[in-house]
Amino acid sequence: MADKFSFSPDEQKLLDSLVRGEISFYKVEKQTDIQTAIKIRRSALEEMTATDLNSLGQFTIDSEDASKRNVENMIGAIQIPVGVAGPIKVNGEYAEGSFYLPLATTEGALVASVNRGCSAITASGGSTVRIFKDQMTRAPVYCMDGVRRSREFVDWINLPEVFMRLKEKASETTRFGELTAVEPYVTGNNVYLRFCFDTKDAMGMNMVTIATQAIVDLIGDEFGVYPISLSGNMCTDKKPAAINSILGRGKTVVAEVELSPEIVQNKLKTTPEAMAEVNYRKNLLGSARAISLGFNAHAANTIAAMFLACGQDPAHVVEGSNTITTMEVTKYGSLYCSVTLPSLQLGTVGGGTKIATQNECLRILDVAGAGESPGYNSKKLAEIIASAVLAGEISLVGAQAAGHLARAHAELGR
Ligand code: NAP
Repeated sequence: MADKFSFSPDEQKLLDSLVRGEISFYKVEKQTDIQTAIKIRRSALEEMTATDLNSLGQFTIDSEDASKRNVENMIGAIQIPVGVAGPIKVNGEYAEGSFYLPLATTEGALVASVNRGCSAITASGGSTVRIFKDQMTRAPVYCMDGVRRSREFVDWINLPEVFMRLKEKASETTRFGELTAVEPYVTGNNVYLRFCFDTKDAMGMNMVTIATQAIVDLIGDEFGVYPISLSGNMCTDKKPAAINSILGRGKTVVAEVELSPEIVQNKLKTTPEAMAEVNYRKNLLGSARAISLGFNAHAANTIAAMFLACGQDPAHVVEGSNTITTMEVTKYGSLYCSVTLPSLQLGTVGGGTKIATQNECLRILDVAGAGESPGYNSKKLAEIIASAVLAGEISLVGAQAAGHLARAHAELGR
């Protein structure tokens, strides 16, 4: 398989050493250019695993850029089909108008389902959506010399003049990030400082990690304590955690729409009463009985598909999955639907947002890159994704209320 490419004698030597395990994958790049290194690593892996990796080697994205910013030991790229749903009308503070949603998924029926929800929302005048909080967090852990010292530390951290010094220190590391709060938590002899930042158009994890390092250096100089770890898991990054559901992480967004009985009947083939009952017994009671952090039908599905398409960190689907979906019949007989996303973490700069295919998806939504005023584009994207989640919830709850779920999957997903 290795002879698919015509490697020079030196490149062939490199490949053979890789196969024999004499050098590591990462060292290949030091001896040749990035494109050739990718081919050599892939060819070596083909030999080592007796696998044809021809498909993995066919892609359009800029491998030089990706190797510098996004991935180590690159051997190729996978492809995930992208479908389009919409248009969906959004009445946000930042997203105002009709949008076509790019969704990357391998789950047949997902795009069709979101599309149906978009149709019901748009026919009802659009989703109304607002952001209530916007903060990325990092929480180092300190092991203190007893509770007296912990109390002195927390009192010191809470002094307004100390906060101002920390804020200034953080601002030296970034043009855009801004420290907005410090929340101390004490457990035995441990103090966790949950630092909250406005990261504008960036999702911000790298930004806040760098800023927090500068802050803990200052704390070390001034108070004489040093963290055991820059992340003490009270942040909480990429894990299901009640703290993110309650205090928020990334954007806290709420989207709502009111569907008339006619729209529920025509678009979803059911009634407001049946949907409200499914939502109550499934999303609220069932989730409570399961002690779930997510009180929704499949918010993670829509978030994952939008995140993959738009170059977001897919691990942050965890935090997006704690969405709460409500549905209630109004006194006029229509169906009020809402989704509350306490911790939607996303950005339009940094991370995977510059990769050409993902960047094109962001451009479909007119949010690629930095906003005209910093933070505008990421807030606009958050409002669009929250509306997409609302569409997905309406469609799935509608399908379950109408008893259509298994049929749709049988027809579209197999
Ligand atoms: P980043 O690409 O590291 O930083 C964003 C960059 O964009 C900064 O250099 C920032 O400038 C610049 N920027 C330009 N215009 C901006 C604007 N309008 N608003 C905000 N920033 C602007 O990305 P990040 O969002 O901080 O981090 C995302 C990456 O972190 C992802 O790849 C994710 O997978 C990864 N991640 C890291 C950790 C970790 O612990 N480090 C954890 C989870 C995920 P400045 O330099 O002036 O700020």
